[in-house]
Amino acid sequence: MMLIPTHHFRDIERKPEYLQPEKCVPPPHPSPVGTMWFIRDGCGIACAIVTWFLVLYAEFVVLFVMLIPSRDYVYSIINGIVFNLLAFLALASHCRAMLTDPGAVPKGNATKEFIESLQLKPGQVVYKCPKCCSIKPDRAHHCSVCKRCIRKMDHHCPWVNNCVGENNQKYFVLFTMYIALISLHALIMVGFHFLHCFEEDWTKCSSFSPPTTVILLILLCFEGLLFLIFTSVMFGTQVHSICTDETGIEQLKKEERRWADCGLPTLESAGRRSATRMSISSAD
Ligand SMILES: [Zn+2]
Ligand SMILES: [Zn+2]
Repeated sequence: MMLIPTHHFRDIERKPEYLQPEKCVPPPHPSPVGTMWFIRDGCGIACAIVTWFLVLYAEFVVLFVMLIPSRDYVYSIINGIVFNLLAFLALASHCRAMLTDPGAVPKGNATKEFIESLQLKPGQVVYKCPKCCSIKPDRAHHCSVCKRCIRKMDHHCPWVNNCVGENNQKYFVLFTMYIALISLHALIMVGFHFLHCFEEDWTKCSSFSPPTTVILLILLCFEGLLFLIFTSVMFGTQVHSICTDETGIEQLKKEERRWADCGLPTLESAGRRSATRMSISSAD
């Protein structure tokens, strides 16, 4: 899904005289300092709501199907505390990842005055983003969903309805870790509950009817497995990119250069052939 045409990486004008600063005007109402960061993207908002709904569904099944009806109070209290703590941490890091400015470059700052204030030496290269009219710092990329250039942009994640960049990557990494842990914990509890119910009378192992209990547990099992795989892969990828100090986009560009060296078609050439590909924005 990370099909990002290279023309999205660097939409550049290499020489200051070609930057056309006269075309850039600062936004009429610049956001005041301290304004909450929130991306108004319908798909992202829907995905973020689904994320919360899935965590709350797991919370409901764990508490009302497995732990509260259980007669082993020590087991219920310990697992209840661990599960709720992980759920709280997952949702808190989700909120921080969603509401933190990922490292947006000021919009429309490629003005004549700003370029002059940079006091560029002859031959010095600066990059301008033609989409948001900003001077791009090194390693910044434009996100078509956020409509901003983001410093050290890794990818745009609809699940947190935000870009993952320099300022919010730690919250995103924590979010994937807590979701992976909570999924693993839920799967272990479902396993124990099934074993317990097979040994005992099904009617006594939950306050719901046996068919409802089985359906709720199977759905939780499915959700847990899916998110355990998805978030642990994402967590591993993020930790690897932190250790190598290389964002997802930079890894993709490196991969593409390798393809080009082998004479294989690159995303850029594929993008030239297919207009639909070119419109695909950065997403995970
Ligand atoms: Zn931009
Ligand atoms: Zn974005």
